[in-house]
Amino acid sequence: MPSATAQTRCRKCGAPMEADDKLCVSCGTYASHGLNVKTVQRAKTAGRATRGMVIGGIVAFVCGVLWALLAVALKVEIGYAAWGIGLVTGLTVVAIAQESSVQIGMAAACLALMGLLIGKAGTFIYGVKPMLVQEIREDDDVMARFALMQLAAEGTLTDEDVEAMTEEMLVNKGRERVSAMTTRERDELAASIADIALEDVGLVTRLGTVFSLWDILWFALALSTAYRIGAGGNDD
Ligand SMILES: [Zn+2]
Repeated sequence: MPSATAQTRCRKCGAPMEADDKLCVSCGTYASHGLNVKTVQRAKTAGRATRGMVIGGIVAFVCGVLWALLAVALKVEIGYAAWGIGLVTGLTVVAIAQESSVQIGMAAACLALMGLLIGKAGTFIYGVKPMLVQEIREDDDVMARFALMQLAAEGTLTDEDVEAMTEEMLVNKGRERVSAMTTRERDELAASIADIALEDVGLVTRLGTVFSLWDILWFALALSTAYRIGAGGNDD
């Protein structure tokens, strides 16, 4: 056992040290592994920043998936939830990294953008049809017109009938047909109309069902919020 007065020397600068000193007071070198205290501090900071990015990325990803699931379940997208993704991502990155800087702010904004794009992609892939079905279901006129087509296909409505009736009478007949339907039959009709509509429209129209001008606002707010939290006032 070393005595309390045992003397040794720093392996870096040679300054005298007590045997139980962990750190050289003159140059900051650790007696055990010979690394400088500043190097160790920098490594710890970098480690926390990396962990902040990884966990922030996971949180952004999960938020994006939840956002898409919500859109598919509700058959309508909650646009302002995008802002929440930016907020949660920024807060997570800073809480784990335990520091804020312009770089952390930019990284938080990038991670938030990734979460937003995942949410949009999920909504686009799984949400377009349910959203369209819902829209059609609420459009009495479209439902009535397709109900008429069903009647014509069944032979209940002949060409002679159609010629004898006014446009208004026809639409009313279609509406009657729709109101006589069960909920399930209405859902099926709306789904078949949606299938026809989706076959006809191009990619741009499909994208239009998922992207709106409001998204520009929500995305901008989300990214600037994530950046500002990450930068923590280091941006000016
Ligand atoms: Zn030293």
